[in-house]
Formats: sequence, C-alpha cells, structure tokens
Amino acid sequence: MQEIGSLEQVKPRVRPSWDEYFMSIALDVSTRSTCLRAQVGAIIVKDRRILTTGYNGAPKGLPHCLDEGCEMVNGHCVRTLHAEQNAIMQAALYGVSLDGGAIFITHQPCHTCAKMIINAGLTRVVFAGKYPDELAVKYLDLAGIRLDPFDLGDRTPAPPPSVFDSK
Ligand SMILES: [Zn+2]
Ligand SMILES: [Zn+2]
Repeated sequence: MQEIGSLEQVKPRVRPSWDEYFMSIALDVSTRSTCLRAQVGAIIVKDRRILTTGYNGAPKGLPHCLDEGCEMVNGHCVRTLHAEQNAIMQAALYGVSLDGGAIFITHQPCHTCAKMIINAGLTRVVFAGKYPDELAVKYLDLAGIRLDPFDLGDRTPAPPPSVFDSK
C-alpha cells in the first residue's frame, strides 16, 4: 500500500476562526453589489451553517445603480434594498427560519435593518466597517442582541461617501 504521508510531514496550516471565515464570505458577497455608493454584503448563519446571503442592490427587475446612477434622496441612495434586507427576504422566499441565527455584515447595520434583524429572531450581529447610525446600536442593545465589531484590518470596507459629514 502506498504511503500518503504522515502527520509529521504535514506543515502546520493556519485555519481561520469561524468569525474570520464568515466575515471573509460576507466580504465576497459584497462584491456582487450594484450600488455605486457602497458595497455591502451580509450572510446569515446558524449552527455554523450559512442559511442565506444578501448584498445591496435594486429590487428584482428594476434598473441597477451601476447602469443608471444612484437615486439620491437626502444623501442616501433609496433605490437599493440593503444587504441585510436581502438576506432576510431570501429566507422568506425559500421558507427558512432564521430564529436564533447570527448575521455577519461588512458594515454596521442601519436602524431599519436593525429592527428587521430583531424581528427575524437573530441574536448576534458581527460587522466590520463603520456606519454612523446610533439608533441602530440603541435598538439592538435594547433588544438584547449581541453586537460584535470585527477587525478586518486593511480589508475593512469604507462607508458610503459623505455619510459621516452629511448630517
Ligand atoms: Zn445606489
Ligand atoms: Zn440597512
């Protein structure tokens, strides 16, 4: 029988932690975004399994920001559904319960997404990039949902342009 290698010959391999693994995937998901202002990705996970994914973009069948430019109202692009919203709706579309799950997002959620996260039954939010929405943090906190900032180092995505000085 042919020897396929002993443990001694195997080089130590650094595996990512679960949080690193899921954040990396959320980052990959964000590359499918069709909005010009920010590329946001989200994945919903339960028991270490990915249930759904979402990125920010126009509703099905509507023109993409990439093709027609963003639809700006009061400093925000209103055409797009947010990554978290698309991840939650994907569960509705396919009949998947998110209760007790966690969401990994490339950016901190806004307050609308925070409220949806609460009522979808998610119990933990992990995010990398900053987004200036204190109400979101307040609501998640009031609902007892764990909010964990995650350091992606130089892969940390930028917030949408000008949101930090458009108040
Ligand atoms: Zn847009
Ligand atoms: Zn949002």
